[in-house]
Amino acid sequence: GFRLFHADIEKKLSDRKRLESELSMMIANESFEIWMQPILDSKTGKLFSLEVLSRWFHPVLGAIPPITFIALAESTRKIALFDRAVIRKASAALSQLRKNYPELKVCINIAAATLIEDDVCEYISAMLIEHALPKNVMLFEITETMLATDKSRLETNINCLRAIGVQFLIDDFGTGYSSLSRLSDLSLDYVKIDKEFLKSLNTGDNHICNTIIKLAHSLDMEVIAEGVETETQHQRLINLGCNYVQGFKFAKPMNEALLAEYLDTLTKKMLVKRVD
Ligand code: C2E
Ligand code: MG
Ligand code: MG
Repeated sequence: GFRLFHADIEKKLSDRKRLESELSMMIANESFEIWMQPILDSKTGKLFSLEVLSRWFHPVLGAIPPITFIALAESTRKIALFDRAVIRKASAALSQLRKNYPELKVCINIAAATLIEDDVCEYISAMLIEHALPKNVMLFEITETMLATDKSRLETNINCLRAIGVQFLIDDFGTGYSSLSRLSDLSLDYVKIDKEFLKSLNTGDNHICNTIIKLAHSLDMEVIAEGVETETQHQRLINLGCNYVQGFKFAKPMNEALLAEYLDTLTKKMLVKRVD
């Protein structure tokens, strides 16, 4: 028989191998950055929390999008190590920020593989203690699809973390799958509407956002809308009773320096800054 071989295939494989080993180094050296994007009260504009979004600036390839390196970390089983490094960095950053802004909280994306680890509850608890953080300042963003994986371990860990005051949010709601009974059994704290569903608000179609907000409220969960880019979307979300908003209309994800500037400006408007 014959097999055709393209030099391209070899190149793709060796590129992937190289990226895999660079990812391992990036995680080990913690040479990634955590950027943060504000989540605001939809009516008052008061800061509710900051979502931690990781950034990898590769010395040769430039910025590698999170969906690419997170997927690679998941497929090579390095995601739990990465997520733990994010939690450690976010705890340290939050602890610093709270010196000036004592009300700040963070929302951290966490993968299923990280959340089913045996000692994840102890790890997060230890991070909070090490950085002198109260327990109710950390929220974890999980996806609906995660609720369908390794149910018992996931549930044990979620319950353990909730018992110490850590909160949970369902990210990208409506794009994955989970049964409604599971959603109500777990009784998590917040639902985040995926940005895809916000597009129709611009054309006057409120149906999906309205349904998600009603469903979440009836299950005693508050709602965050992600990907708000226009004034029309913002106004319609307020009218539908959406509690919090996040998106480029208000602020993009920011590095440490830009965030400091943003918080300073916002403080002058509304946050009570500690002056001692
Ligand atoms: P996500 O958690 O759903 O994050 C929201 C994404 O939407 C972010 O993309 C954010 O930059 C983007 N976004 C926010 N507002 C707007 C807007 O108004 N318009 C548009 N077009 N986009 C907006 P990003 O930073 O590229 O992150 C992509 C995904 O990568 C995240 O989706 C999350 O699933 C994952 N991710 C990022 N950082 C981490 C991390 O530290 N750990 C884990 N496990 N996953 C992460
Ligand atoms: Mg998220
Ligand atoms: Mg999302």
